[in-house]
Amino acid sequence: MASAPSVYVPLDVNYLRDPRIRRAGPDAELLYLRGLAHAKGGETDGVIYEFDLDVIAVGLSKVPQRVAALVREKAWEEREEGWFITGWFKWNKSTEELRNEKERKRIGAARTNHGKHESKGEGPFSWCPVCTGEVEPAWRTSGR
Ligand SMILES: [Zn+2]
Repeated sequence: MASAPSVYVPLDVNYLRDPRIRRAGPDAELLYLRGLAHAKGGETDGVIYEFDLDVIAVGLSKVPQRVAALVREKAWEEREEGWFITGWFKWNKSTEELRNEKERKRIGAARTNHGKHESKGEGPFSWCPVCTGEVEPAWRTSGR
């Protein structure tokens, strides 16, 4: 069985010296790190939903105190639906941006592949999104 591709979340190496994290303490720091991984994996755009907190904090004691420390130090910000990791968009693109990027790459690749087979006089192919009309050929959209 093929495993899912790994996903990574940026962690600024200077976070160790971040006064907010140091003042919040090591207990809160662990929750903060888990929150980063959770937000990235769940594509939440940096939001920790209240209903996810139990899962994120599994095995941790004094969870409300840890949350309070992160909020006090402005590492997390209270939101109606839970909390927001305040530095999130400094290091992470929004989920929508990532989707758009992926789509642009897919279209670019389709046009490149179409150009290759077309220049050899091959096609149309049912597997080619340009041949099927799902993706516009480059000449129709370029130069505008
Ligand atoms: Zn084609």
